[in-house]
Amino acid sequence: MKDRIDELREIINYHIDCYYNQDDPEITDYEYDMLMQELKKLEAEHPERITPDSPTQHVGGTAKREAGVLVRHRVPMLSLQDVFSKEEVMQFVESMQQQLDHPEFVVETKIDGLSMAIRYTDGVMTTAITRGDGIIQGEDVTENARVIKDVKKKLKHPIPYIEIRGEVYMTNEAFDAVNAKQELLGKKTFANPRNCAAGTLRQLDSKITKERNLSMFIFNIQETQGRTFTTHTEGYEYLKSNGVKVIENYQVCTTGEEVWEAIQKIGEQRGKLGYDIDGAVVKLNNLQDRVTVGETSKVPRWAVAYKYPPEEKETVLRDIELSVGRTGRITPTAIFDPIRLCGTSVSRATLHNQDFIDDLDIGIGDTIVVYKSGEIIPKIKSVVKEKRPTGTVRFQIPDRCPVCGAPAVREKETADIKCTGISCPAQKERHIINFVGRDAMDIKALVRIIL
Ligand SMILES: [Zn+2]
Repeated sequence: MKDRIDELREIINYHIDCYYNQDDPEITDYEYDMLMQELKKLEAEHPERITPDSPTQHVGGTAKREAGVLVRHRVPMLSLQDVFSKEEVMQFVESMQQQLDHPEFVVETKIDGLSMAIRYTDGVMTTAITRGDGIIQGEDVTENARVIKDVKKKLKHPIPYIEIRGEVYMTNEAFDAVNAKQELLGKKTFANPRNCAAGTLRQLDSKITKERNLSMFIFNIQETQGRTFTTHTEGYEYLKSNGVKVIENYQVCTTGEEVWEAIQKIGEQRGKLGYDIDGAVVKLNNLQDRVTVGETSKVPRWAVAYKYPPEEKETVLRDIELSVGRTGRITPTAIFDPIRLCGTSVSRATLHNQDFIDDLDIGIGDTIVVYKSGEIIPKIKSVVKEKRPTGTVRFQIPDRCPVCGAPAVREKETADIKCTGISCPAQKERHIINFVGRDAMDIKALVRIIL
């Protein structure tokens, strides 16, 4: 027998279909929201009835959050097709040129943050929404958006309705301040500015959001009523006249070569902007052209995102630290002049073992190229041989344990070098720490007493 939960699911799915597939809504957004609220309430009372295909859990449940209020997207917040080579960029440009008459392209920076849409009625901000599932609904973050300094609460030249979309991000400076404070409070630090921005935008307490100092750039007009724009850049001009902060670096291009040049130029500025970018977006400038080429169910056909290769920087290797593990294994760690990569300052990277050192042919004083694997873990890519100071030699892990002085030998069939000292304090200390647990007491003091 069908009950109210089944009934509600059927009704809601019907209206989702009317709204998104038939483009012919039969009920107001408010009525829709009320139905959704009722279903959510019933599901909360009967959690065993929650199924992955329930409208409350749509698209992998990405839009759902316990404390969040959901808002339906009027215009989907689609993600972009990624491309990684000049060839793919050229293919995109040529394909547009084949379908359209002399199309214009806009190349602009792609900020590494998270997407948010803002709605204004008669020039007054009413709602701010996260991307959520991108198609059906996102999360209401209006209260948090209000405390972001770059978000205009009122437009100087109002029109009846406008929805704009942009990227919420964190400057390196703001990010450092947040992590410094987290450290001071003994809390977990954030891995990168994007993670921090995402957590901050979805904070339940907007006081924390305000404190953390988010920023925002607008990169698209989603929908308007009472005024139309011919091109993307015309829309930008309107927004700028309202004091809205739009993407800083954008350039109108007509040929593939111009597009590629603009992408290169943005790439060169990367690392000098005070915030992270993860690519360059190439999009059609003429809004009618965008309608003509349309979109797939997932991505617009009128834009691509070029992704730069992982950010890397040169620095100088100052030292190689040797640590002795619990099993006696000696691990070398490179210590280099601090550099900023993907939002954080790094000065250390593992050198793994002697084979790794030999392959790199690395020595103290060498200039090295460092990148972040998965945008998180610092890794040494190569040594800049031309910059090697005279007298620098390849590092060799010594044949004596750096802690106890016992012979260190390379294990057969592995690249590990191990201390052979039976009473090696490094190994002993690790044994004890491992046994007692680091947080249990002042282990260092305990170890000193035992030894
Ligand atoms: Zn030892």
